[in-house]
Amino acid sequence: MTIFEKIVAGEIPCKKVAEDEKFLAFYDINPKAPVHILAIPKICVKDFSCASSELLGELCEFAKEVAKIAGIDKSGYRIITNIGADGGQEVPHLHLHILGGGKLSFPKLA
Ligand code: 5GP
Repeated sequence: MTIFEKIVAGEIPCKKVAEDEKFLAFYDINPKAPVHILAIPKICVKDFSCASSELLGELCEFAKEVAKIAGIDKSGYRIITNIGADGGQEVPHLHLHILGGGKLSFPKLA
């Protein structure tokens, strides 16, 4: 069971931003921007490459709503999803990083 499944199950607390029957958004525990939110499906899908187009479309719509709720939709934001080892993915449960709240620099290779 990944840490995100435990968050969905309520076994680990999170600072929730938004939730519906299929998706959950919460603040990242180690923020890389003034606003750093993770949007995840409640069902366990390993990453972007395994997810159906339908699920990805719904997750993107959810992320747009999350950005509005967080108050960063007008100022702008960045969405990132990491895939696998070289992508820097630590948690093998599909998630969108929603980053904003200030001008972001472009990420460099590690
Ligand atoms: P990844 O590297 O897999 O794309 O991103 C995983 C993200 O999950 C990281 O930014 C990390 O800070 C965040 N994270 C890991 N464990 C927890 C946790 O228990 N709670 C929250 N809110 N975020 C977490």
